[in-house]
Amino acid sequence: MTTLIDQRPPSLTRRPSLVGLTRDELASRLADDLGLEKKPARMRATQVWGWLYSHGATAFEDMTNIAKPMREKMARLYDISRPEIIERQVSSDGTRKYLLRMGPGIEVESVFIPGVGRAGALCVSSQVGCTLNCTFCHTGTQALVRNLTAEEIVAQVLVCKDDIEEWPSGKDERKLSNIVFMGMGEPLYALDSVASAIDIISDGEGIAISRRRITVSTSGVVNQMHALGERTEAMLAISLHATNDKLRDELVPINRKWPLKDLLQACRDYPGTSNARRITFEYVMLDGVNDSDEEARELVRLLKGIPAKINLIPFNPWPGSPYQCSSWERIEQFAEIVNDAGYASPIRTPRGRDIAAACGQLKSDSVKQRASDRRKAELAQSAP
Ligand code: SAH
Ligand code: SF4
Repeated sequence: MTTLIDQRPPSLTRRPSLVGLTRDELASRLADDLGLEKKPARMRATQVWGWLYSHGATAFEDMTNIAKPMREKMARLYDISRPEIIERQVSSDGTRKYLLRMGPGIEVESVFIPGVGRAGALCVSSQVGCTLNCTFCHTGTQALVRNLTAEEIVAQVLVCKDDIEEWPSGKDERKLSNIVFMGMGEPLYALDSVASAIDIISDGEGIAISRRRITVSTSGVVNQMHALGERTEAMLAISLHATNDKLRDELVPINRKWPLKDLLQACRDYPGTSNARRITFEYVMLDGVNDSDEEARELVRLLKGIPAKINLIPFNPWPGSPYQCSSWERIEQFAEIVNDAGYASPIRTPRGRDIAAACGQLKSDSVKQRASDRRKAELAQSAP
């Protein structure tokens, strides 16, 4: 079993942030710290919330409808600045990849993909690295450093909105319309952070991306799937990739714990699923491994009775990856069988390949650090 070595907030040297608190948490934090009664604390929280998530404020001095002494007091108590952007790359197809530094040794990537979803989707990370070792995934080769906090997940959205100049929120012509938890990590192992982040991102008086436009992808953490649906009402995506247990045990090793039968039952039981709210099944096309006609037919049989969409993902290679992508003709033939059975099965065009931003290519250089080394790094950072 992998041990998480660092579950602490971004940095010990930083004042606490207000980003990442749910509305209720924000009100009680302000009540405690500023000595406010319940009602004024709620009013203050509504104002601050609007500045953070409707206007994208990064400094209290911008919160002009709050009296100056109060702004100064909050500025002394809290830090609402953005994480550092270590690298920002823009692909020839418009895809934008951000490498963000959340704290010493904590680096994550997120990717904005225009033209996906209603207008554009941001693919966010939920962990630094991943404990699971899916054999075709680059992130899987990186050891887990830790789960991200709700603050760190929400910060990925704020950074993207800064970059595409999408403030104030709620513009009619939005560029960022969808959020997908398909970056680094397994979101169902970070469910508390993911659920709080979704509460914040979907709040109608802020970023206001509706829960129906937020998709959480899992490799099949069956015992958390129901809780995900109940707590977040998010759309579900399953990284399926194989139609029999033998192959799935190899490609997606969590299958050894929860085999296909259990996974598909959890899909049937996923709250809120209907023909209007289908589950997406992701299927990565690996040359000669899982891409035969027989497997396409088996896929259709397996999903019978589940309101499903099938997403065929051309395999994105990474240095040292043990697979090849299926040929284009093979993918089309596979798609045809699935389409003929009545499933929409778009072939996902690889995006941002030139900047290694495509599915499964994300990997940061964060490595597990010994606690003593980390403390040293933090001390060095806080030195004047
Ligand atoms: N851990 C979660 C979410 C992140 S992975 C999960 O596994 O679902 C997001 C998607 O990218 C998953 O469907 C994953 O299987 C797919 N993926 C991973 N590596 C890939 C690669 N090299 N090429 C194409 N898709 C890949
Ligand atoms: Fe982790 Fe998902 Fe990659 Fe598997 S595919 S290693 S679960 S990030």
